[in-house]
Amino acid sequence: MKVFDLLCANDHRFEGWFASGTDFERQRDTGIIACPLCGDSHVVKVPAASYVNTGASDRSPKAEPAEPTPEQTQYANIRSAMLAKVVEYVVKNTEDVGRDFPEEARKIHYGESPERKIRGTASQDEVTELRDEGIDVVPLPITIPAGKSH
Ligand SMILES: [Zn+2]
Repeated sequence: MKVFDLLCANDHRFEGWFASGTDFERQRDTGIIACPLCGDSHVVKVPAASYVNTGASDRSPKAEPAEPTPEQTQYANIRSAMLAKVVEYVVKNTEDVGRDFPEEARKIHYGESPERKIRGTASQDEVTELRDEGIDVVPLPITIPAGKSH
């Protein structure tokens, strides 16, 4: 079983128990998961790990799909609103270590630095290396696009 920190659209934080990450996604997509405080089912998982911004330009952009359907657009809007919440949460609850991220994540993992949540930047290669060492790193688009209208 896995415990996930979850966040609803109204900023309520609660815990959910799931067999796996896939199990969580399946339950979320079918709307089974609801916030215990307000019943909202637009729930996102707040990764309980360190956060890293790998930068958007590391990979060649994938071809954009043709015209999304209104449903897809609505879903994408919900997703981006929820993502913004996660980013906000991360910024509030983690220490920014910037480019020292890979080193600091290792120190925390090996007990050389105090256990805490951190965020920072790392390359895709560094993220892969950290994961190879068993360090849980969650890539997150920390940069929130400015001036986006609702
Ligand atoms: Zn709620």
